[in-house]
Amino acid sequence: MINKTILWSEGQISGRVSELAAKSDLVGSSPAPIVVGVAIGAFLFVADLVRKIDFSIPVDFIRAESYDSKTESNGAPIISFDLKVDINARHVILVEDIVDTGHTLSRVFKHLKSKGASSVSVCTFLDKPSRRKVDVQLVGEGKFYRGFECPDYFVVGYGMDFAEQYRNLPYIGILKPEHYK
Ligand code: 5GP
Ligand code: MG
Ligand code: MG
Repeated sequence: MINKTILWSEGQISGRVSELAAKSDLVGSSPAPIVVGVAIGAFLFVADLVRKIDFSIPVDFIRAESYDSKTESNGAPIISFDLKVDINARHVILVEDIVDTGHTLSRVFKHLKSKGASSVSVCTFLDKPSRRKVDVQLVGEGKFYRGFECPDYFVVGYGMDFAEQYRNLPYIGILKPEHYK
């Protein structure tokens, strides 16, 4: 498409998701962890990740939103849709599309702990450490896994949107600033 540059193709994404499924604590934890995706952005990543493992695990979604500009979160996300599964005394793998400032992850992590999660690991598809405001490595007591380090561009696709568009693209592209400025 004319208004985007592709950063990671469908094939590269699939290969990296397989690696993450094998090395993250999805495999080998006992009892099996609970996968919690952050909707909506993580929906494709969750779907791909859980299909790479060959045993049964619970999967649920939580929704966190911040009243923000179109390309930046404001630091005060709220939980607008909560879990149904009971995570008390369970290990949770929190699955995110992208960690940017870290405010969303930090908020969701506290929420999961308040619901009794025994430990929380984070598996984010993209990580933009250059924009971090909250040190998410210190937020959790579990592990932190990421698919790719993302340069400081506003990206779309593979679940991620701009004004609810582009989520269905099977690749990750850079949305050129003239399309949102
Ligand atoms: P944070 O709270 O870490 O600043 O931002 C987390 C959320 O902001 C992500 O889950 C995502 O919804 C949105 N976000 C941050 N960076 C990008 C980006 O480059 N592209 C898109 N589409 N969303 C982003
Ligand atoms: Mg997200
Ligand atoms: Mg969004």
